[in-house]
Amino acid sequence: MSVQVVSAAATAKVPEVELRDLSPSEAEPQLGLSTAAVSAMVPPAGGGDPEAPAPAPVAERPPAPGPGSGPTAALSPAAGKVPQASAMKRSDPHHQHQRHRDGGEALVSPDGTVTEAPRTVKKQIQFADQKQEFNKRPTKIGRRSLSRSISQSSTDSYSSAASYTDSSDDETSPRDKQQKNSKGSSDFCVKNIKQAEFGRREIEIAEQEMPALMALRKRAQGEKPLAGAKIVGCTHITAQTAVLMETLGALGAQCRWAACNIYSTLNEVAAALAESGFPVFAWKGESEDDFWWCIDRCVNVEGWQPNMILDDGGDLTHWIYKKYPNMFKKIKGIVEESVTGVHRLYQLSKAGKLCVPAMNVNDSVTKQKFDNLYCCRESILDGLKRTTDMMFGGKQVVVCGYGEVGKGCCAALKAMGSIVYVTEIDPICALQACMDGFRLVKLNEVIRQVDIVITCTGNKNVVTREHLDRMKNSCIVCNMGHSNTEIDVASLRTPELTWERVRSQVDHVIWPDGKRIVLLAEGRLLNLSCSTVPTFVLSITATTQALALIELYNAPEGRYKQDVYLLPKKMDEYVASLHLPTFDAHLTELTDEQAKYLGLNKNGPFKPNYYRY
Ligand code: NAD
Repeated sequence: MSVQVVSAAATAKVPEVELRDLSPSEAEPQLGLSTAAVSAMVPPAGGGDPEAPAPAPVAERPPAPGPGSGPTAALSPAAGKVPQASAMKRSDPHHQHQRHRDGGEALVSPDGTVTEAPRTVKKQIQFADQKQEFNKRPTKIGRRSLSRSISQSSTDSYSSAASYTDSSDDETSPRDKQQKNSKGSSDFCVKNIKQAEFGRREIEIAEQEMPALMALRKRAQGEKPLAGAKIVGCTHITAQTAVLMETLGALGAQCRWAACNIYSTLNEVAAALAESGFPVFAWKGESEDDFWWCIDRCVNVEGWQPNMILDDGGDLTHWIYKKYPNMFKKIKGIVEESVTGVHRLYQLSKAGKLCVPAMNVNDSVTKQKFDNLYCCRESILDGLKRTTDMMFGGKQVVVCGYGEVGKGCCAALKAMGSIVYVTEIDPICALQACMDGFRLVKLNEVIRQVDIVITCTGNKNVVTREHLDRMKNSCIVCNMGHSNTEIDVASLRTPELTWERVRSQVDHVIWPDGKRIVLLAEGRLLNLSCSTVPTFVLSITATTQALALIELYNAPEGRYKQDVYLLPKKMDEYVASLHLPTFDAHLTELTDEQAKYLGLNKNGPFKPNYYRY
């Protein structure tokens, strides 16, 4: 049995999510590729009907409400109505911007070099409803000429992506440089095109850990499921996204790309992409003015108009809505990766302003279950080690929140011999923690004794000033959740406390009696700020993005409406299957008899939408 979550977009104020059964054909949306493309790219769905009706859009779970507030999903009383777990699970996006004490920020390169990032710019900038005049660029900080701030992800530091070669001595803005690639094209703007060779090596290294994208390139062969697609993208520009971009190119798409984060661009990779003909407009340390200029250069092109959007954070989508709304007449869909961007799409949808279909990649099983759990399991130790050089064995750690991220953190720390405590508000996750062998406590009970406090709740003020006051000397405090609101860092900015920056992303906050706590990344995401994230996990997300683009681009008219969708489960399964050969994993095939017994198609999907994994 499958259930459909009826879209919340239909009504302006929808406090409840209604669920209803679907017939099997409705419940199993087919891939939207041309027949040839389907056979080339994805195993047959069995009974696949390319004209199958649109999958259900995904109703938004309300942003994580405060205690006692916010609507709850009400199930219809009919038997068998089960919430579509993956569809309803969303993290709470917060849009609070970070302020740095000195307005600037230090970044660490993978080689350990510490560089001072450009001063953090004031976030609230004005949109020129009047004409944008990019050529009057004032300072590195940028003109306050745009009416909304860029998303938090666009200003979060992302040191894992720091540039490898030193170009800090070159202070000339890329916008003031005349550069051409070896084929004579100047349709790009990067820090230094001469760094292309180095960037190419980085891309080749990433390719080794991105087997699914490489497999997609091979499987597509003569088929070009994205032929005619004109994709404008706004993502981190790293070696991993370069592999995605080049895969999209191999599948037939034309791409133009800007960075979704002003710090995260790998200059060498951007150069390599520009050298191989991709119009890339991005460099590390853009001002906010540069940020919007780069986006504009991607969309405002004579003789070229995008028909697909790949966004991470929603800034690109927002820009097109504000500046070029007519472009949506030709745009077939939006693929959005981030919590923040997805939240914005749902807002548009609720307001009836979403004018094209959108794919919520953030809530795909292949993202939630892999990015959140495995990425954090691998990167929590890396982030702590790089910043503090600490040993984990025997240390007492409290992890707040035992969702996907918390589970990953706890597993890694336990494996290293730490004594791990967990705090939870949800009895189900709490019981899971207990049965996984962790002591479930209230934060107050252990706050005096623990060596490390890690938040991963997606909530706010989980660690309060009172907790911080009671921590023991040298306690390390950090956050793995989406926003910097989990630890009440603002409460530490009082005159009686002294802040000492001891390393990039490491502050000692010192009490009058000499006690100090070690605050990492000022309470922002530890792993994104201070460590690398595994390429293999990014491969899973990037493959999901590629398939979402293929699906939306090829979907027959009417399959997707102007709403927010999850990728069909069969495609999630396909993403996973493309990664299995890396492990020489041998998947068992259902016999005809077994398939009949379970009522499944032998080729999947193997689980109903509400299955939780
Ligand atoms: P989740 O919803 O699965 O888990 C969060 C858990 O925190 C829930 O079980 C919830 O009951 C619990 N919780 C909420 N308030 C609490 C409180 N006051 N005290 C204790 N527990 C509380 O979400 P998730 O997938 O684990 O993600 C958690 C956060 O991490 C989100 O903000 C998400 O955006 C972010 N995230 C970070 C990364 C990363 O790389 N660092 C990756 C993915 C997601």
